[in-house]
Amino acid sequence: MQNLQAEEINNIASIFGKRFGDKFRENHILADYTTFGIGGPARMFIYCDNREDIIDAVNLAHENRMDFFIVGGGSNLLISDKGYPGLIIHIASTGLDITENYIEVESGYDWEELVDLTCREGLDGLVGMAGIKGQVGGAVYGNAGAFGTSVADILIEAEILKPGEEPRWEKNNYFAFSYRNSILKKTKEIVLRARFDYKREEPAILLKKQDEILELRNQRHPEKDCSAGCFFKNIEKPDEPFGKLAAGFLLEKVGAKQMHIGGARVFDKHANILINASGKARAADVRKLAEALKKKVKDEYGYDLEEEITFLGD
Ligand SMILES: Cc1cc2nc3c(=O)[nH]c(=O)nc-3n(C[C@H](O)[C@H](O)[C@H](O)COP(=O)(O)OP(=O)(O)OC[C@H]3O[C@@H](n4cnc5c(N)ncnc54)[C@H](O)[C@@H]3O)c2cc1C
Repeated sequence: MQNLQAEEINNIASIFGKRFGDKFRENHILADYTTFGIGGPARMFIYCDNREDIIDAVNLAHENRMDFFIVGGGSNLLISDKGYPGLIIHIASTGLDITENYIEVESGYDWEELVDLTCREGLDGLVGMAGIKGQVGGAVYGNAGAFGTSVADILIEAEILKPGEEPRWEKNNYFAFSYRNSILKKTKEIVLRARFDYKREEPAILLKKQDEILELRNQRHPEKDCSAGCFFKNIEKPDEPFGKLAAGFLLEKVGAKQMHIGGARVFDKHANILINASGKARAADVRKLAEALKKKVKDEYGYDLEEEITFLGD
């Protein structure tokens, strides 16, 4: 927090309460907003189901020197058991427009629903990323991808917001995409809308491909929400197939699948997926388990695993 006193925070809460009414909450539990199902309370929370609310929430936070954090689908997040002492801006804006040249979609649109819709409409481009959880904004932020394709391959441009400024559109090259990375991780700008490229294709062909990908993923991912997908990034290594050494391969070798701490376990079908097995795991359990896994890989293979997921809070 930017050295704000309790009284100042209460005043800021009252400003947000007046502007956002029922969409604003105090001390709101975050576990339900993450696929891990873990996370304590946010001091302040706003549910933003339209673009204007997102802009106002970000700019009001900026004006009042209030720390804030964007939560989209919460599928790449581990939130502390103590929660977050600032403002959570939860994005839920879902406008969609398909033109002859692009698909324009707001950042809160569910990624899996978008992929499904494009397949049914015969719009080729996103199908390789079927089954990735979360929202459009989170996918752009982290350059989500699978099976050799990622957001970087299809994004034409996105509308972003720098706190305190007017929204602006930036072309693909602005985002400096690399493996699970974009410039937004440094600039902390917020994605409001994105435009994706597509080619026309027979819906039957796309739907078949989508089914095949989902079938493959179902064999290696938990059925229900209880994880954040792959916990660690693969290791970039040019001499490996696709230039990456799979973190899951190393984790399997060090016996990760047998490991658990408290309610957190390694998933038995994929050594790079940590799960909230009991539904009652604490963020502290997951973090301890992750540290133990990193140490094993470092000790036995000399590699430093880097988290793919984002930690929020203490
Ligand atoms: C079962 C499962 C399978 C998965 N498989 C894959 C996979 O194959 N490939 C892959 O890449 N990922 C995968 N993931 C991880 C995750 O789905 C992606 O990283 C996803 O794109 C995150 O989007 P989100 O909306 O859930 O982001 P969140 O988890 O809500 O947030 C993640 C980060 O993005 C930021 N963010 C979110 N929205 C915005 C926005 N509008 N503007 C700016 N920043 C924003 C947040 O502040 C945070 O730092 C998987 C997850 C699960 C649970």
